[in-house]
Amino acid sequence: PVIDAETLLDGMNPQQREAVVHAGSPLLIIAGAGSGKTRVLTHRIAYLLAARRVQPGEILAITFTNKAAGEMRERVEALVGPRAKAMWVSTFHSACVRILRRESKRLGFTSSFSIYDAADSQRLMALCCRDLDLDPKQFPPKSFSAKVSNLKNELIDEETYAAKAENPMERKLAEAYALYQRRLREANALDFDDIIMTTVNLLQAFPDAAEHYRRRFRHILVDEYQDTNHAQYMLVRELTGGASGQGPKMTVDGEFVNPAEAQLAEIPPAELCVVGDADQSIYAFRGATIRNILDFEEDYPNATTILLEQNYRSTQTILSAANSVIERNSNRRKKNLWTAGAEGVKIISYVADDEHGEAQFVADEIDKLSDKGEAKPGDVAVFYRTNAQSRVFEEVFIRVGLPYKVVGGVRFYERKEVRDVLAYLRVLANPEDAVPLRRILNVPKRGIGERAEAMIEALASRERISFPQALLRVDEAYGMAARSANAVKKFNELMAKLSGVVESGAGPAAILEAVLEETGYLAELQASTDPQDETRVENLQELAAVALEFEQEEPLEGPDGEPVQTGLPGFLERVALVADSDQIPDEDGEGRGVITLMTLHTAKGLEFPVVFLTGMEDGVFPHMRAMNNTKELEEERRLAYVGLTRARERLYLSRAVLRSAWGQPSYNPASRFLEEIPTTLVDERRTAAAAMPGGYGSRSAASGSGYGGGSGAGGGAGAGRRSSPAAGWGKSKGRVNDRPMITLAVGDRVTHDRFGLGTVVSVAGPADDAKATIDFGAEGTKQLLLRYAPVEKL
Ligand code: ATP
Ligand code: MG
Repeated sequence: PVIDAETLLDGMNPQQREAVVHAGSPLLIIAGAGSGKTRVLTHRIAYLLAARRVQPGEILAITFTNKAAGEMRERVEALVGPRAKAMWVSTFHSACVRILRRESKRLGFTSSFSIYDAADSQRLMALCCRDLDLDPKQFPPKSFSAKVSNLKNELIDEETYAAKAENPMERKLAEAYALYQRRLREANALDFDDIIMTTVNLLQAFPDAAEHYRRRFRHILVDEYQDTNHAQYMLVRELTGGASGQGPKMTVDGEFVNPAEAQLAEIPPAELCVVGDADQSIYAFRGATIRNILDFEEDYPNATTILLEQNYRSTQTILSAANSVIERNSNRRKKNLWTAGAEGVKIISYVADDEHGEAQFVADEIDKLSDKGEAKPGDVAVFYRTNAQSRVFEEVFIRVGLPYKVVGGVRFYERKEVRDVLAYLRVLANPEDAVPLRRILNVPKRGIGERAEAMIEALASRERISFPQALLRVDEAYGMAARSANAVKKFNELMAKLSGVVESGAGPAAILEAVLEETGYLAELQASTDPQDETRVENLQELAAVALEFEQEEPLEGPDGEPVQTGLPGFLERVALVADSDQIPDEDGEGRGVITLMTLHTAKGLEFPVVFLTGMEDGVFPHMRAMNNTKELEEERRLAYVGLTRARERLYLSRAVLRSAWGQPSYNPASRFLEEIPTTLVDERRTAAAAMPGGYGSRSAASGSGYGGGSGAGGGAGAGRRSSPAAGWGKSKGRVNDRPMITLAVGDRVTHDRFGLGTVVSVAGPADDAKATIDFGAEGTKQLLLRYAPVEKL
């Protein structure tokens, strides 16, 4: 070994030392954040090799995220050198995939099975529901998908579930579950949740397979144990052996039912060491249960429990803040975390006018720290509650030239939903652009499948026309099935309608709204119960905010004084540029590292010298969804505790008075978690405007003036027409502009943001979808969709 046993124990406190050297009985280490749990795990691994002659191949270490697994592997390698390669240091999922690839034949699939991610499995579930003729309104496939996932986390397979399904809903779910599993098997595929469940089933059904792994893994170590769900819990139990209630089945005469089980029973259980912190349990929504920690001593009757109370990570100030927040949770084991370290500097809280001001503050502060030599960009992390919040930070960092990376989430403009919706806008701006057209052809699903697409392509090449032109022409006459031909016709009608919105002079924000609504894209996401879809809705809200911001900007001038692109093409150009400068490596040119942007969930287990916790507003964090639910609020509070305890030296807490979602301003009060931190620990800063009552929103007031007139910016919806002050967070609302419907009659005089004064010639169609023909004199006569057109009655 690189480091000998004695050196490994140097500098450890007595409890840590005990945990590292402990041998034999199952070991549970429960301790607060930053008390060295992960360090104990890695040192314990090194100690096993150095002092107890354990072979690296006998060790299985499991943690939660890929990032955490990577860090743990690095830490172990630093201690033991290249021998670490023979160990399994991985996430639950990758460990199970390794086992399943090896054992696949027993289970009836080949070792090259494919793994369906959430999107794949949802697609498959949607197909199954369709084949079962389930009404998607009554039995939404997305919600079926989520339910099946939960069942798998509880290790309830399709047969077991079918046997206990009672009401019609459950019976339909059971049918869909069964078909879904059959299709997966036919495709030689496993979904994400299957990976764990199938491994557990394997170990339970094949004693000789269980024997193989029990002989191999003599030491099992699990980090972040508080976030394991039932399936993961059982997996650990099966791999370890020796839990209470486990053991071979016996007949009444005391004979073993299965001789292989008898052999299995002779293998002494592996040494198990789990570490966790009930206060950091933040995955209840994925079925994680703190019970796994609480019941450990019951399941493993001879278990040893060690508490760690000394924190080595954070200053006393940061620790006191974290303690006073988490103390508000009920039903927790009280902990007494302390540090021998310094008091440290005060926490800085900042109230910005809006989210741009907040991002600017963060950028300025990082610059300052950097100039004073107090921190490098690589020392800094910026946390937020939801992925969509990264966008404003990304844009400011790009503008001021701060190097950054987004961890654990896809960069904003690379997200599927954002790209989908932008693809619609690109087609509207340029109907001949085949790439975005093909992307959206069947998004959301509308029955234009691969075969139909191939047929359009064939027509295009035969007639020597473009794909978009072929799309307009193709129909049954070209041999297309009636169902597909009808779907294509409907799609062409949809695009014609959306083009009408563009032609009616609507700005990017209103066009975006029309796309979200008319395509059904938004409705589909809102109907879903999958938490990921909620995130997608939030990202689209964010995109709507970008569009509105773009409209409200002063029209800039190019280098020669010519106005730059405005309207839809201008918006798309802007977006393309931002998306393109998205490619930044892990280190900046000077090797100072890069700022890390991530959600609070991804931050678990990590630490940074400087942490910015942003969006500290009720409705953002805690999330709107959790505000009226004590249990969920407590989970949010644990998330706050996780965030606060990532900081080593400096902690910033920021919020915005005004935040736009759906392009609508919402005024959020300070997060209750902010209020739970004693003011004596905090140095409060405010901008001049935010400090002044009624001084909010100076930015929006100013930007409103750059509007309309001859700028040609395409007015979209004028600020005066947006009436609802509430933000569109959550599912209840979808529209960008909640303006009252305008009704017109023949002869009415109107004004249009771009075309000026006009007279209504005719009105047709239902009230909520009315089309007006309006004579704008020199500008010509236009057909306008009243719902989206920027017109007002005089
Ligand atoms: P979390 O709950 O956030 O996962 P943790 O309990 O796993 O935290 P670690 O990440 O292992 O804590 O340790 C926190 C920091 O304290 C690390 O930088 C680690 O190196 C340091 N540390 C832990 N124990 C000691 C010690 N005995 N001496 C010096 N530094 C220590
Ligand atoms: Mg840890």
